[in-house]
Amino acid sequence: MRTDLLQALAARVAERERAGLLRRVRTLNAARGVRVMIDGRELLNFCSNDYLGLAQEPRIVAALQKTANACGVGSTAAHLVCGHRREHAQLEDVLCEWTGREAALLFSSGWLANLGTLQALLDRAGVCIQDKLNHASLLDAAQLAGATLKRYPHNDVEGAARQLAGAPEQPALVATDGVFSMDGDVAPLRELAALCRREGAPLMVDDAHGLGVLGAHGAGSVAEAGLAQDEVPVLMATLGKALGCAGAFVAGSRALIEGLTQFARTFVYTTAMPPALAAAACEAARIARAEDWRRAKLQALIARFRAGAAQLGLPLMDSRTAIQPVVLGDADRTVAASRVLERKGFLVAAIRPPTVPQGRARLRVTLSAAHEEEDVDRLLDALALEAASEKSPGPGFRSR
Ligand SMILES: *Cc1c(COP(=O)(O)O)cnc(C)c1O
Repeated sequence: MRTDLLQALAARVAERERAGLLRRVRTLNAARGVRVMIDGRELLNFCSNDYLGLAQEPRIVAALQKTANACGVGSTAAHLVCGHRREHAQLEDVLCEWTGREAALLFSSGWLANLGTLQALLDRAGVCIQDKLNHASLLDAAQLAGATLKRYPHNDVEGAARQLAGAPEQPALVATDGVFSMDGDVAPLRELAALCRREGAPLMVDDAHGLGVLGAHGAGSVAEAGLAQDEVPVLMATLGKALGCAGAFVAGSRALIEGLTQFARTFVYTTAMPPALAAAACEAARIARAEDWRRAKLQALIARFRAGAAQLGLPLMDSRTAIQPVVLGDADRTVAASRVLERKGFLVAAIRPPTVPQGRARLRVTLSAAHEEEDVDRLLDALALEAASEKSPGPGFRSR
C-alpha cells in the first residue's frame, strides 16, 4: 500500500506537538512602531528585524503611495518580459553604488536570491562550503542546486580550509552569513576572503542582517571589513530587514549579474516585485545611508541592553549587532519565559530547535532604533525576574 502523504504530514505535526515544538502563527492586529496589538493587548515588540525603524517611516510610505498612484500595484510580468520598470532599475543602481559593486539584481525575497544564485553557480560537480549556522535558505539552496554541501563549525576558518582541501579538484563556493541571524555575531570575513583567494573559490556573503546596521553609512558587514568586489564577488542582502521593505538583491561584477540574469531561475521565472515597493526600497536605502543617527541610536541601545543584561548575569552571546539572544538552553523553559514576558507586555520570540541546535533554545531579543532607552530598561526589569528564578525557585519564568 502507498503511504498517504497527507496522513504522514499530519503524523509529523502530531510528533512535533508531543515534543512541545509546535510553531504558531500570531496575528498582529495593528502595529505602531515598536508597539503592536495582539489579542486585544498592546505589547512592546522585541523580535522584529526592523533594526533602523524604517518599516513605518512616512517618507518611505509616501514613496510607495506615490508610485502606486502613478502605476498601480502589480508589475504584471517577470523582469525579462515586461515587469522591469524604471523604479527597479533605479533601485539596482542605488544598491550597487551603496555596496560598492558594479551591478545588482533584484529578487522577490532573500530565499529566492540565495536559491537562484546557488543554482546558477553550482551543479552536481560543485561543492558548497558553508558555516553550520548559515541561514536555512543558503543551506537548502546548496542542496536544491544539487551541489555537495559541506559545513564547517561556526566561524571556524580552519574548518572551512579543511573542507576546501578535501575537494581540491572540484569547483567550490564558500558561503557565509555576514551577521548570523540567530546569534548576532559577525563572520570572520577577512580571513575567509583570504582563504578563498588562496584556494580560487569565490566567497558569497549573505548580509541580510548587516546591511543598514554595520559599516560606514550602513553599507554592511562586507564594507565594514573593507572587502572589495574581487574579495567578496557575491554579495547578497535583503530589503526586508533594516530597510523595512521586502525583497532582496545580489550585487557583484557585471559578469556575475549577467550570469544570474540568464541562469537564476528564481529571477527568470517569477513576477517582478511591485514597482511601488521598489520605489519604497529606494527611499529606504537613501534614508538608511544618510541617517547615521539611526545606527548611533541603535548602538547606544545595544550597549545599554548588554550592560544591563550583564549586571543581571544573563547569558548573553558575543554580539555587537541588533540581534541579542538570551540563550536559556531548554526549549520548554524558553517558551515559558516568552509567555511570562508576554503577560508582562513584551513580545520576544522563543527560538527552538530545529531553528537552533538542541539545547540552545533562546529568547531572540532584537533591538531597533525605534526603541527608546525606557523600553530597553523595562525589558531588562522583566528579564531580571528570569535571572532571579534561576537562583531561587520562587515566582518567575519557571513557576508558570
Ligand atoms: C531573512 C533572511 C533571509 C531570507 O530573506 P527573505 O527576504 O526573508 O526571504 C536570507 N538570509 C538570511 C541570513 C536571513 O536572515
